[in-house]
Amino acid sequence: MKVLLTGGAGYIGSHTAVALIEAGFEPVLLDNFANSHPVVLDRLARITGQTMPFEQGDVLDTPWVEDVLRRHRPVGVIHFAGDKAVGESVALPLKYFHNNIGGAVSLLRAMEAVHAQDPSTAPTLVFSSSATVYGDPATVPITEDFPRSHTNPYGHSKLVIEDMLTALCAARPAWRVGTLRYFNPVGAHPSGLIGEDPAGIPNNLMPYVAQVAVGQREHLNVYGNDYPTPDGTGVRDYIHVQDLAAGHVAAIQALLSRGESFTVNLGTGSGHSVLDVVRAFEKASGRPVPYRIAPRRAGDVAQCWADPARASRLLGWQAKLTLDQMCADAWRWQSANPNGYKG
Ligand code: NAD
Ligand code: UDP
Repeated sequence: MKVLLTGGAGYIGSHTAVALIEAGFEPVLLDNFANSHPVVLDRLARITGQTMPFEQGDVLDTPWVEDVLRRHRPVGVIHFAGDKAVGESVALPLKYFHNNIGGAVSLLRAMEAVHAQDPSTAPTLVFSSSATVYGDPATVPITEDFPRSHTNPYGHSKLVIEDMLTALCAARPAWRVGTLRYFNPVGAHPSGLIGEDPAGIPNNLMPYVAQVAVGQREHLNVYGNDYPTPDGTGVRDYIHVQDLAAGHVAAIQALLSRGESFTVNLGTGSGHSVLDVVRAFEKASGRPVPYRIAPRRAGDVAQCWADPARASRLLGWQAKLTLDQMCADAWRWQSANPNGYKG
């Protein structure tokens, strides 16, 4: 059973591709390499012992996506493709609305056209949403029925796509959509062959800490130590990308077997502070991670973690891996690939 992964060469897509193969699916990857590198395909072949079908192109190109769907006839699509840098989205909002919202519309129209010609299978989609749709939550842990809001164009694009999917499912009962709200994906495949490879200076904590530990950056700036949290630094729900990948497999399986749409949080249900991450990374790497306290980063929330009970109930999925394992795997990837896929 083929599953099409848009953005399949990216960080979460590549890990999900491995998990799908292990679960007996045949992933087909689609990517334009806007934020990824072709070397990932060789790495995936080394991990899995097989060459995955790959389609290079842009998800905005609706006729081409239709053609890909007709040729491969996947049982489902996982839509990872999109831009994800919060800061860039503030500077370049139209880029985010075009690629993220436009990309989703293009994919959905292609799926609808293919379904219209062959209504024998229900259009089945898993969508990469984000905990960013909760904005600044009033309390933690966060359940799926918390109010949604946005603080930047990236978050806004995720919210609009969620709403589009709700409207589509209301208008077209045949559609099956699983919306996954990721908390903070970190870590890497335990082989150290694939991992997160941010372009330029990392925005996110874990890849920045990894680059400090490997000696590429002098120190970490800790954005604020005066939050109302146990040590004053921001608290997040870090989730191992391997657990996240397993969540996608569970989501596709649930859509195919039960045929009901759902929205679930994918998180561990517990939070760690910036300083917890620094200490865990020092332990995993055996290297110091020097840091300086810096002013708060605009738009950051004090704390954010998931209530993952609905994912457990609907998908039978729970995150299993600890912060120590996240750091150990991130370090294996970073130390073996100090310059990411660029070698
Ligand atoms: P990523 O940038 O590593 O992967 C996205 C992939 O999509 C890249 O390989 C990129 O080349 C490709 N892509 C972008 N635009 C495209 C287009 N128009 N056509 C074809 N390919 C295109 O990002 P990721 O971390 O793997 O994230 C995957 C998805 O999960 C994104 O939608 C992101 O918003 C969402 N998400 C990520 C995080 C996170 O922290 N990584 C958190 C919440 C949600
Ligand atoms: N953070 C930090 N220094 C950095 C990057 C992030 O102190 O260089 C903090 C940030 O303020 C937040 C936490 O680390 O409290 C996680 O930030 P990240 O950008 O990884 O995730 P997000 O804020 O999007 O949840």
